[in-house]
Amino acid sequence: MKIFDAHCDVLLKMWLNPQIAFENEKSLHITLDHLKKTGAKVQCFAIFVPDHVSGPEKFHVALQMVDIFYSKIVEAYDEMKLVTSKREIEALESGEIGAFLTLEGCDSIGDDLSKLRILHRLGVRSIGLTWNHANLVADGIMEERGAGLTTFGKEVVRLNNELKLWTDVSHLSEKGFWDVMEEGKYVIASHSNSKKLCPHPRNLTDEQIKSLIKRDSIIGVTFVPKFLASEQKASLTDVLRHIEHICSLGGEKNIGFGSDFDGITDTPAQLEHYGKYEKLINELLKHYNETLVKGFCFDHFARQLPE
Ligand SMILES: [Zn+2]
Repeated sequence: MKIFDAHCDVLLKMWLNPQIAFENEKSLHITLDHLKKTGAKVQCFAIFVPDHVSGPEKFHVALQMVDIFYSKIVEAYDEMKLVTSKREIEALESGEIGAFLTLEGCDSIGDDLSKLRILHRLGVRSIGLTWNHANLVADGIMEERGAGLTTFGKEVVRLNNELKLWTDVSHLSEKGFWDVMEEGKYVIASHSNSKKLCPHPRNLTDEQIKSLIKRDSIIGVTFVPKFLASEQKASLTDVLRHIEHICSLGGEKNIGFGSDFDGITDTPAQLEHYGKYEKLINELLKHYNETLVKGFCFDHFARQLPE
């Protein structure tokens, strides 16, 4: 079954450790080998500039990650193909895997829209507005102030609309989320779960989930253990609980996956790396019809991409 995974942090790991080879590195949750064996069709690769990089250096590091994406992933293996649109995904041949470039947090663009345009020119097609803290676009969900989009943040969302980029609300403050609901045209939540089931700040309230469903956006259910279960150790069963809850809110056609593999140190039991998607798919097929499972795994996110 084809898989579209909307979020991973392979680029960060490869930036931190230049020795890593994407093909079969043991310390990676996602490798070329896993993708090939497990039916991957599109993998999103996030540019995430860690907090310790200081202001003016951030954009430079973002560009280094773009370089890793091209030189060590897209150009290094025949199977990997850059994809930037729905059309390019539909044109992938069997055996080819689409690599889709995303930005996690606008910290690296500062207050400069030209940097966003440059990232778009380099192939980035999804823009996460914040990580956990505040930047010049908006507050992240862990920022106590809890402010929404700044004036510049609204310009960023309007530019995303104009360039047909996804605006990703994962990590964003609640106020920021509702601002994006007003301004944004192509909105997704790449890696967030249900706050009703697991009250972590990074998760989405039922009201947020319902408003995403209403505008036919996609929510990438994520495998981050602390977003899956608050008390016990998380497992694959918890992923199914979150899916079931979003379905109960009317969102069965709005569910996808955003694993956050390689951005997490702990993984849920039975979902230790990308290869374990197979197990998840088998489990899903026991509870949902095949069309829907195909939707969760691939079709829903693919459907929502701008042309
Ligand atoms: Zn994240």
